[in-house]
Amino acid sequence: MTQSHATTTVAQLIAEGLAPPEAQAALEQVAETFRIRLTPQMRAVAGAEGIARQFVPGAEELVVRPEELADPIGDHAFSPAPGLTHRYPDRVILAATQTCEVYCRFCFRRETVGSDGALPEADLAQALDHVARHPEIWEVILTGGDPLSLSPRRIAALLARIAAIPHVQVVRFHTRVPVVAPERITPALIEALEVRPAVYVVVHCNHPDELTEAAGDALRRLSRAGVPLLAQTVLLRGVNDRAEVLEALFRGLIARRVKPYYLHHCDLAKGTGHFRTTLAEGQALMAALRGRLSGICLPTYVLDLPGGAGKVPVGPNYLAPGDAAGEHLVTDWQGGVHRYRDPG
Ligand SMILES: *Cc1c(COP(=O)(O)O)cnc(C)c1O
Ligand code: SF4
Repeated sequence: MTQSHATTTVAQLIAEGLAPPEAQAALEQVAETFRIRLTPQMRAVAGAEGIARQFVPGAEELVVRPEELADPIGDHAFSPAPGLTHRYPDRVILAATQTCEVYCRFCFRRETVGSDGALPEADLAQALDHVARHPEIWEVILTGGDPLSLSPRRIAALLARIAAIPHVQVVRFHTRVPVVAPERITPALIEALEVRPAVYVVVHCNHPDELTEAAGDALRRLSRAGVPLLAQTVLLRGVNDRAEVLEALFRGLIARRVKPYYLHHCDLAKGTGHFRTTLAEGQALMAALRGRLSGICLPTYVLDLPGGAGKVPVGPNYLAPGDAAGEHLVTDWQGGVHRYRDPG
């Protein structure tokens, strides 16, 4: 049977057969910089390479490439208050906590996640004050860390404070909890989410084996409560960089009432080069899925530009200029090329 504790040390990884004893020294060195955590739920499926690779540290993480950055998507460059990033006019992201239920080896915030506990009250007050003073902010995106690692009581209190800001219409949670720690989706948590403004939950999920029976039950509890569910996936070499794997994942999500929203190109976080594909590989995967999969299964493939310029859809591109003015060459899902001319 699965044990109820999380795996947080190199010694535990070795004792549980998740890492070889000879890797101990290198992994201890990795653990000095990047925390380790696997929940019992993910440990139970860690026999699959696509799961183990996401959570079990590897010596490759000690390799930092020149292009890799401490703040890969410029969270800090657009931060008007601690824990808050205000890049786009109508929405902010608020890192409500730096704690997660698991520590993903490719995390783009790996330099900041892993410290204990929620955002300090003084910082939270300053962040909410910024939101209150900016009527153009329509949506607050709670992230971290993992905002659903907070207690239902804290979540309810935070939502009540956000609800008191009249121009905020939507609160979005970005979380791995329903999948990696489904037991945390309790009646108390569900009750906390049944509030105005509208709560959306975006579940981070990368591999079909993450969709365990318990995860499916947790997602059902959320959707039964009327919480719209979306998913975000990070494209990861050796985890999900094959069309069959992405197909099984996206079908599995839609079948559980979760709409794939973004497929993220892997960000330039330090020590994550072994996970990164090229953009061309990502485009080829998305092109392979178009037509083969129901349209509602397909997310938008996006690159979050280093430095903080934001997210950009990066294809694949189905349009090329034709010979004549106003003429386009359009590629269909089977690779056939067609001419299309704009009227007029
Ligand atoms: C990703 C991100 C968002 C959300 O972007 P959407 O395209 O609306 O999902 C908002 N603000 C920041 C700073 C982000 O990095
Ligand atoms: S759960 Fe999210 S924030 Fe936490 S380590 Fe994984 S990717 Fe990073």
